[in-house]
Amino acid sequence: MTMQSAAPRAKRILMVGAPGAGKGTQAAAIAKQFGIAHIASGDLLRRHIADGTAIGKTVEGVVNKGELVPDALIMDMLRKPVMAASETGGYVLDGFPRTVEQAEAAYRTAGSLGVGVQIAVHLEVPEEELIRRLLARARGADDTEDIIRHRIKVYEEKTRPLLEYYSSRELLIQVNGARPVAEVTWSIIVQLQRALKRPNTHTSGARQATADKAVA
Ligand code: AMP
Repeated sequence: MTMQSAAPRAKRILMVGAPGAGKGTQAAAIAKQFGIAHIASGDLLRRHIADGTAIGKTVEGVVNKGELVPDALIMDMLRKPVMAASETGGYVLDGFPRTVEQAEAAYRTAGSLGVGVQIAVHLEVPEEELIRRLLARARGADDTEDIIRHRIKVYEEKTRPLLEYYSSRELLIQVNGARPVAEVTWSIIVQLQRALKRPNTHTSGARQATADKAVA
């Protein structure tokens, strides 16, 4: 046991993947494995909508159309849970960042807190498999086939550019997400453990992680 603050060694993991890629399932497994918080922006938004809060009323139409909620609203909503988790071991963020602008804002905040680099995990799944999964688990107004296809288009246009951002600035772990759940989990955990062991992983600053770019 040590008296040292947990913050500088907090694990800060981000899940990047299209709707249906398995971010929620894998984020929950990572959170359990490392004993860190699982923070899902889409779940928080859906809870606001179900509870009829002011945020919920503002975002309902946008979420139901499969569009992205404004960055400022997402940043405000996530600030408290992310700060709290940073002080208690870290977090795996699922659904954020969704745009390069959100990633840049998160990077600036992390840098100014000195809490170390983030590790992004990208789950790659072919489009037809995404659609098959999303139709199978259809859960509400944002789940018709047209809206599903629109959400995937929004991902390709707004979120995929994040991969370029992360591969040049921070650690990016690439994973083939089209395999059975347990295999994907194992692959992510092995790569995360390897990345977290590196001496520099917990210090601020940008770095390349070319070794992690091969799809595992
Ligand atoms: P998800 O459950 O992550 O697929 O998110 C469901 C919906 O919530 C998305 O289609 C967006 O409308 C909204 N949303 C979730 N996270 C974000 C984010 N980081 N930025 C903007 N909109 C978001």
